[in-house]
Amino acid sequence: MTELSTQPTVRRTTAQGAVSTVLAFDVVVTRVERISANFQRITFGGSCLSDFGVQGSTLDLRIKVMIPASHGNRADMASLMDSEGTGWYQRWLAMDADERGAMRTYTVRGARCGGEAPEVDVDFVMHFDAEGNGGPASQWAAAAAPGDRVWLIGPNVQAATCATAGSYGGIEWRPGMAQNVLLAGDETAVPAISAILESLPADIKGHALLEVPDAEDFQDIATGSGVEITWLARGVRPQGELLDAAVRQAVRLPGWVSLSSPFSVALGADSPAGLALAAAASARTAAGPEPEEIDVDKTILWETPQLLDQGAVGNSLNPDRPPGALPFYAWIAGEAAMVRGLRRYLVRDVGIDRKQVAFMGYWRQGRAETS
Ligand SMILES: Cc1cc2nc3c(=O)[nH]c(=O)nc-3n(C[C@H](O)[C@H](O)[C@H](O)COP(=O)(O)OP(=O)(O)OC[C@H]3O[C@@H](n4cnc5c(N)ncnc54)[C@H](O)[C@@H]3O)c2cc1C
Repeated sequence: MTELSTQPTVRRTTAQGAVSTVLAFDVVVTRVERISANFQRITFGGSCLSDFGVQGSTLDLRIKVMIPASHGNRADMASLMDSEGTGWYQRWLAMDADERGAMRTYTVRGARCGGEAPEVDVDFVMHFDAEGNGGPASQWAAAAAPGDRVWLIGPNVQAATCATAGSYGGIEWRPGMAQNVLLAGDETAVPAISAILESLPADIKGHALLEVPDAEDFQDIATGSGVEITWLARGVRPQGELLDAAVRQAVRLPGWVSLSSPFSVALGADSPAGLALAAAASARTAAGPEPEEIDVDKTILWETPQLLDQGAVGNSLNPDRPPGALPFYAWIAGEAAMVRGLRRYLVRDVGIDRKQVAFMGYWRQGRAETS
């Protein structure tokens, strides 16, 4: 039987009495399940996880999984964190690479932290090259067994419900009032899209497009929403090719707003936005601004309505259309070059306001996460 008596989380309070939004969780693997051809679900347990969580559904909540070094060494993440839950990354980075292991970003696929035996599920994509080499996270997940221990860096549920807390900031899904949505992602985004779909109410409609390596990776997703789910099996095709085509089919030019797209109802061909888009499309010009070029080899592609609001990235937004009041919202994640291509298509060719779309490069072909 797996030993679940992990270290309790260090409950942190800042000098001002606020609760730290981020905690380090010392967890143990309780179950390992190959849920499809290329996905390994790892369930983490430990009494410390009773402090883990957010208010409401976890949606696309991201956490850090601290992968032990190849000889099994684990950095003690709790001791690296200051009272505000910050500073740990620089201290961890300053450690000897052989001692600290690797840090990777994953989505919480499920969290059951309210009861006697709190647990968190993470679905790892098993990606290996022809020689069988993968990154540290996929290698670790492939060999994981009950009893193995790692640290997770994630949200403090006390902070989520505490008036003095800041925001953990690990959730990007913010559709505002939109009732027509597009979710598009490759296999790394399947856990996030699945969790989002499970949370959506019946009056939300649209498309979820998921590209996975193999038809044996299609999964059952229970959604009460009206979102139509389409699985795409890549097979031997290049990464992202099918997804790119499927998004272009769902959000079509010319005259995107007046065709049979599910989004046509949302904007309406006679709405100001609809007319502008249709006019631009019929004039065969770019319907929107050219988004700034992003070199995905040098930088992370991460452009969300929240970041635009904070002025963190350059933008050319329409100030008359505040976020949250828009009828359509898109959430796109996966390999960065694929996401970049869809960003250009949706923003420039279709003319969708960047405040309506979250574009997230979850990984980069040929590059490790921290490189
Ligand atoms: C917010 C966020 C949430 C994420 N959620 C999940 C999740 O729930 N499940 C999940 O599996 N991944 C998820 N990812 C992606 C995951 O972090 C990356 O795939 C990560 O690079 C895997 O680490 P690694 O140690 O296995 O490979 P790395 O050491 O980072 O990379 C080694 C090599 O493998 C390649 N590589 C990395 N990932 C893949 C892949 N999926 N397919 C093919 N080649 C790859 C790299 O290009 C590199 O050449 C998420 C990423 C982000 C940013």
